[in-house]
Amino acid sequence: MASRIIPVDPFDLVIFGGTGDLARRKILPALYRRFWAGQIPPEVAIIGAARSDLDDAQYRAFAREAIEEFVSEVKRVPATVEAFLGRLRYVVIDARGETGWAELSRLMRADVDHAFYFSVGPSLFGDLAQRLRDNGMAGPEARIVVEKPFGHDLASARALNRTLAQHFDEAQIYRIDHYLGKETVQNLMAIRFGNMLFEPLWNAQYIDHIQITVAETVGVGGRGPYYDRSGAMRDMVQNHMMQLLCLIAMEPPSHFDPDAVRDEKLKVIRALDALGPEDIVRGQYCADDGVPGYLTDVDSRDSTTESFVALRLAVSNWRWKGTPFYLRTGKRMRARTSEIAITFKEPPHSIFGVQKGQAPNVLVIKLQPNEGITLNVTIKEPGPGGMRLIEVPLDMSFAEALGPEAQDIPDAYERLIMDVIRGNQTLFMRGDEVEAAWAWTDPIIAGWEAREDRPRPYDAGSSGPEDSLMLMHRDGRRWREVRP
Ligand code: NAP
Repeated sequence: MASRIIPVDPFDLVIFGGTGDLARRKILPALYRRFWAGQIPPEVAIIGAARSDLDDAQYRAFAREAIEEFVSEVKRVPATVEAFLGRLRYVVIDARGETGWAELSRLMRADVDHAFYFSVGPSLFGDLAQRLRDNGMAGPEARIVVEKPFGHDLASARALNRTLAQHFDEAQIYRIDHYLGKETVQNLMAIRFGNMLFEPLWNAQYIDHIQITVAETVGVGGRGPYYDRSGAMRDMVQNHMMQLLCLIAMEPPSHFDPDAVRDEKLKVIRALDALGPEDIVRGQYCADDGVPGYLTDVDSRDSTTESFVALRLAVSNWRWKGTPFYLRTGKRMRARTSEIAITFKEPPHSIFGVQKGQAPNVLVIKLQPNEGITLNVTIKEPGPGGMRLIEVPLDMSFAEALGPEAQDIPDAYERLIMDVIRGNQTLFMRGDEVEAAWAWTDPIIAGWEAREDRPRPYDAGSSGPEDSLMLMHRDGRRWREVRP
């Protein structure tokens, strides 16, 4: 089945930080892929902007290398690559100085929408917003895209929101969380609200518990100093995992429109109970088999930053009272995997007696490495010999139903950048959502600091510290195995 591509109108996109890692690995390849797919029209203008002294030709060479490295060979059609590169320009600009701003303003066309991607450190967001305003580029046709991290705590997130609000309306600000751009994350909404089957069961009466796991095999890598100031709670839970939790827990919005969806997500964050120390396990990976430990990676002797965290959360409202949400995320774990698992309750009475093989239904939404959705159901084991039960997956990976094209799922950045151009904010965090998430996170981190909490060590390649297993055992439950 051919997917329907609706082209967007021509636009001007400026990538501040256009020479950076994110532009190279994600933004430029994503733009190219949408250009190749015919969604971005040939009249687009993409302008890289940074302090490095490059000209257009050098920037095109940079983009060509990015495409060669990060776009699959089948999409690297020479004529399309040349046409795309021909739409790129470069301006030397200093976010904190006056260099380049007049030139940028001259390049922007009057009759198209303008998007400005702030792919620079957050300390420059205010400078960029101010200079866009000063140079007449913050009109109503302008949108700005801001990258994570959006603040380090509630106070800094508020300050950032206030700064951006001086120059842009909320409707012009796109706070990106690439988890929300994943196909399966949106499918979560389609499954919940596009079917009769699940929503009546989507509550504490029928759902036993929910697990959200984001496990990485890598360590902190080159991000050591940044990560050590942040930790798993700020880097993963406050933003990505909280957003996933909201999509699972929210009430049905009245419409699939940005504010209706974001209003419902905000209510979930506000309904989260405060956590006590017994609801949290923090961990830090140790050296193993020649692989350095966390302290070596961040070059510290006594850092107490967590590279792993497991949490038991409660959403205090009618729908979820009594159904815990267990979240865990960590680095240097056994496998790279991100998934949401919704475990339903056991049938109230088994007509088959106690049977090996009878297991509760589990709806698994896999985000990484391969996106897909599976529903585990109990059936009879085929063959004679009585009623023996087995658990089998009903695989809803889209490939079979939708054909091979469905395997070519656009990257989250492709979808999100196109949403910016279309002016659709549904998959972007609103300022009040971000602040509510920090308001919930801050006291947890403050508690660790006050108690001088030390993370538990865990072996690289494991499922995290032993205590995190206890977090569930205590409730008579088990984490799902961390496997790809
Ligand atoms: P990076 O590789 O360090 O790139 C930073 C970019 O900003 C460079 O193009 C740099 O170019 C430019 N820049 C720095 N100071 C500037 C100034 N005063 N004026 C104008 N341009 C300036 O960082 P990155 O990894 O691309 O990350 C960019 C943003 O995305 C950060 O907020 C980061 O947290 C976020 N992010 C990154 C990733 C990722 O995978 N990389 C993932 C999620 C979020 P010049 O030095 O030439 O000026």
